[in-house]
Amino acid sequence: MDITILASGSTGNCYHVNDSKTSLLLDAGIPIKAIHVGCGFQLSRVSGCLVTHYHGDHSKSVKSLLKAGVDVYMPREEAEVCGIPHSHRLHYLMHRDDGYSSFPVGTFNILPFRVEHDTPAPVGYLIASRSTGEKLLYFTDSYYLRYRFTGLTHIIGEVNYDNESVWDHIEDGSTPAARAKRLFSSHMSLDTFLEFLDATDTCRLRQIYICHMSNDHGNADKISRAVRQETGAEVYVC
Ligand SMILES: [Zn+2]
Ligand SMILES: [Zn+2]
Repeated sequence: MDITILASGSTGNCYHVNDSKTSLLLDAGIPIKAIHVGCGFQLSRVSGCLVTHYHGDHSKSVKSLLKAGVDVYMPREEAEVCGIPHSHRLHYLMHRDDGYSSFPVGTFNILPFRVEHDTPAPVGYLIASRSTGEKLLYFTDSYYLRYRFTGLTHIIGEVNYDNESVWDHIEDGSTPAARAKRLFSSHMSLDTFLEFLDATDTCRLRQIYICHMSNDHGNADKISRAVRQETGAEVYVC
């Protein structure tokens, strides 16, 4: 599985994933021009874009992608909040009793799952390639993950902050308490990510891409060292 980071962080998120047969975009929170460049001006070869939630740093170019003929998949509740007009290219995620239904896009099988963030129905995606047998977990903007996954080979996952950095900033007054409070209830800490990995089957895990790290509250060296130590996988901080 080939993973390219087009952008990551609170100013914009967009990832390109390819299993040599099918190309997908994960989130579209950057200008459409930057997506064209990131895809090598081959947007027509992208089979779909999976969107996690309506915040602009994830959905900025959804309307432009639809206009460009790309199929977009996202929860109906999230599409409605940001006023995305109905289009035959816009696919709402389908509910089952205990979650979402899986669906195919090219050679990928996609299973959306609920995450914990301050929007109506935020999701992450479990993306399995029928072509290579690889399994990618993509989640971002979630202070906790309620589900566990088996057989993962790749993770693109959020570590937004580490607790020590946040408390240092609260103490020196550079981070207002209200901002810290929102952080704790909407984004993932290093400790929570490590607990998730500890409870996850990591024996097939090869690559972890740490995404959406805060400039103020994240220490890339500390985070990548801790995650590598926990899993033995290749770790990249985006
Ligand atoms: Zn975000
Ligand atoms: Zn968000």
